[in-house]
Amino acid sequence: MSDFDFTSTAFSAQLAEKKLVGSRCKNCGRVSLPPRLLCQHCRSFEMEPFVFSGKGKLAAFSVIYYGPTFMKNFGYGPKNPYVSGIVDLEEGPRISAQILGLDIEHPDNITIGDPLTATFIERGEDDSRQVFLGFQV
Ligand SMILES: [Zn+2]
Repeated sequence: MSDFDFTSTAFSAQLAEKKLVGSRCKNCGRVSLPPRLLCQHCRSFEMEPFVFSGKGKLAAFSVIYYGPTFMKNFGYGPKNPYVSGIVDLEEGPRISAQILGLDIEHPDNITIGDPLTATFIERGEDDSRQVFLGFQV
């Protein structure tokens, strides 16, 4: 990971390897996901790669019936909605991602604070294969 350059491209390349890599500030120790070149807390550029555990808790969610075109192209829509959520990661940062495994037919059964684990969602094949970050109940 010595060539990790803290860009979204580097983040995606690590996701493709099923690794959740963000950044940690060498000055103040704050961690970020996705990675950042500049620490938002102390403005230091002294960053190092940081591997997240993938554990977190559901902070908020929304059921999406009409999503962006790329999600529509993956088969989601009014008859096959998906869940987009905010996850409080164990290490501190929050991240938005697709949430899998929630009972969206019965949203009253979903509890904010439920534990989640990162999952790597593969879509497309061969040259168009992409790996997306998701979280699983
Ligand atoms: Zn810092």
